[in-house]
Amino acid sequence: MSGALQAIPSVLLESPNRLETRWLHVKKQSDLHRQRESLDRQRMDRRATADLLDLRAYEGRGLPPFGWRDRTRGRTHVTATMAAVLVRAYATFRAIYPDRRLSLGDLAQPGGGTLYHGTLVRELEGDAAQDVLNRSRLEGGRLVARSLRPATSFPRELHRFEAPDQRVEVEETILAQHSARPLRLRVAVRRYVESAVPEPDQAKEMIREANAIIRRGTLLSTTTLPYWSRDGARRLVRQHWVSPGTRGQLVVTSSRKQKRRLRVADLEEIRFSRFSARKPDSFQRERRWLPTRVQDGRKTRVEGWRRFTALYEAGHITHLTGRDADISYVTNENRSHFAVDIPNIDVVATWHWFEALCAAAREMGTEVEKILVDRSVLSHLKAGLPESALKTPLFTQILKRSGGHNAHHHLRLLASDRRSEAKGADLMSGLSERTLESLRVPVSYSVPLPATEAAARTPDDAAASSPTPSK
Ligand SMILES: [Zn+2]
Repeated sequence: MSGALQAIPSVLLESPNRLETRWLHVKKQSDLHRQRESLDRQRMDRRATADLLDLRAYEGRGLPPFGWRDRTRGRTHVTATMAAVLVRAYATFRAIYPDRRLSLGDLAQPGGGTLYHGTLVRELEGDAAQDVLNRSRLEGGRLVARSLRPATSFPRELHRFEAPDQRVEVEETILAQHSARPLRLRVAVRRYVESAVPEPDQAKEMIREANAIIRRGTLLSTTTLPYWSRDGARRLVRQHWVSPGTRGQLVVTSSRKQKRRLRVADLEEIRFSRFSARKPDSFQRERRWLPTRVQDGRKTRVEGWRRFTALYEAGHITHLTGRDADISYVTNENRSHFAVDIPNIDVVATWHWFEALCAAAREMGTEVEKILVDRSVLSHLKAGLPESALKTPLFTQILKRSGGHNAHHHLRLLASDRRSEAKGADLMSGLSERTLESLRVPVSYSVPLPATEAAARTPDDAAASSPTPSK
């Protein structure tokens, strides 16, 4: 096994701010070839930060009861500053709205880095790491473990599959190792569901589509690398075309280099996906086609195809290093978190949540840089808030209109400095011993607190949050 371990590069650790700067530099490159070069030269696939906390790990250890949009993706990592801000803002909010909840969506993945479409990054250790390593084969220079599992292997996500017995191909790519002893690996996981066997017409259409991308697009890379598969060692050629005009990209693996028109006889696999210049190296809505071959005299020929579609996982331009968080709105009766239901958003309670966030950020030595909300949400807030709120810097400067944020808002803090990180880490390490009351921060609310819920507070609560409702 030590041989396989030698093939895995070491993870390159750095600070969240440094990691973010690198990613932004790569994304800014407008020339595709330069971007590719930059990704390789800076070895982005091996970079991570050790400075993020897994916020969900604090459940049962003093974390106030956030709802979680999902419990499977592992995108629950944040800076210590962000962790403390969320905890203190929520403790403050719950003092006024004890029956209201907020749910968290995507934060950052373990170790940070860009969140690729369709990809979940896992940090595996012990038996789980050893298992992936044992099953892995070298594919194009990387160790990849593939397995076919029924949908029932993902019991929390059964609703995402067509049927319980639908077959799911799990592709685990070993990105880097943290250490060999104990074994700790950084692994990218993609899952594909198999669709019905395509009709011959659909296969013809697929080949036409591939040839169109080759004709219109640009060849981004050609890599010849050894593969080890069940049939032993051999060389395969991987070619990657991108067609920014049609937003398509194509990755073809063949036994021989492909030219202007695909030679089907040489194909091992075809992958289609959507291309976005702002998400380099991300393969959105990926579809894979694998030829099935039959013996024809002494040769084999392609007789049909199997196709797989990547399971959807959101990609993000931000959420790189734990200072971004997707959070539900405050809704009536806590209904429809992360569902588009504008009339159901409780304007005043949501506003108080935003004010608690800003106050908690200041208390932790940072600032809320922005809160992204959709245009529809902004209009809803505007219609429901008094004049006093609309004149605040929170409304005029921090709230930013950004499409698609109609089912959640996106909180972004300023990049944290050493002091706020130390303060946040300190608070989080002692979280289980803290009372909710002691976590609250003082807020100067610009909108009167609701009479019924304010009345429900104890005098102690009032002292801890010292609200100053406007007239
Ligand atoms: Zn977001």
